[in-house]
Amino acid sequence: MIIGIDLGTTNSLVAFVNRENKPEIIINERGNRLTPSVVYFKNEQEVLVGELARSQLILKADRTVSGIKRHMGEDYQVMIGERGYSPVEISALILRKLVKYAQEYLGDTIEGAVVTVPAYFNDNQRQATLMAGELAGIKIFKLLNEPTAAALAYGFESSQNQHVLVLDIGGGTFDITLMEYQDNTCSVICSGGSTTLGGIDFDNRLAEHILKTFRETQGIDLANDLIARQQIQINAEKVKMDLSTINECSILIPYITMGPQGPVHLNQLIYREQFDHLCHDLFAQIESLIAQTMSKAGVSKDWVDVIVLAGGASRMPGFREKVALLFAGVEIKSEINPDEV
Ligand code: AMP
Repeated sequence: MIIGIDLGTTNSLVAFVNRENKPEIIINERGNRLTPSVVYFKNEQEVLVGELARSQLILKADRTVSGIKRHMGEDYQVMIGERGYSPVEISALILRKLVKYAQEYLGDTIEGAVVTVPAYFNDNQRQATLMAGELAGIKIFKLLNEPTAAALAYGFESSQNQHVLVLDIGGGTFDITLMEYQDNTCSVICSGGSTTLGGIDFDNRLAEHILKTFRETQGIDLANDLIARQQIQINAEKVKMDLSTINECSILIPYITMGPQGPVHLNQLIYREQFDHLCHDLFAQIESLIAQTMSKAGVSKDWVDVIVLAGGASRMPGFREKVALLFAGVEIKSEINPDEV
């Protein structure tokens, strides 16, 4: 059995092709299909990966590593206490965990893996990914470009002549890829985007707004209260996700702090319109990154036949509206869960 691994900046997934010839994602110990790409070094002996690590991100920031993919291929180390860890070592810990989920589910039949990487990854970054596999004890048979994987999931075939634009906005990155299917080959024409723009920037905007509103209404500044900030950050992401399906959402955190009169609760209502307004410059950035990539490739909007949306943050209605407006009349494919595509 060969498994497929999406080793993401924010979340990772492991899948296989089942008896019905369909891709199937393997759930983790929490019953979730996505595993946060976060590693927490509890002590010398114990390392946690996934949800349990993510919940330590603010409180134990000095022993928790996230977003390591951004440093793949770099001469970079994260210091945990006295010991430095390379991006290859951290990625290997995440890979090992994913392989463990696959082994528990499929038994000991795993021969190796296909791992996806961004189309723009250079040789160093690809080499680092292969080394992480080696360190994790899994043979990587192939590195597959992420936008190619997304197009494959939609069943694009190279026999059809088509120009595809893949827009992949995850937790921390926005990847734009222009691909051409022609004469039985699929080629990446151009890639662009940003390694510092993703869902977390939208969470941060909401978190800042929540802190500011609390300060104005309660006269209490929570900016330096780590526990309160962690709760606000978690809730901000939840509100952002809820606002993808509903127009207003309330955030309630009881007993967030103590005031002169006793415990104080945080209770705010946030509207989607307000969220879109708070993030309008981020949406504008998205538009300008798309325009830059198109102009780098020397093509206009009419060149695009079909758009594929990928990445969890592509569920934001503001994002979808922007894309639909920019490419009026172009088919947008978004039926497959964008976190998993
Ligand atoms: P990915 O890296 O593709 O797993 O995407 C992770 C990002 O997608 C995180 O920033 C999530 O908060 C975001 N996300 C997941 N679901 C939603 C949703 N329903 N609406 C908006 N953003 C979402």
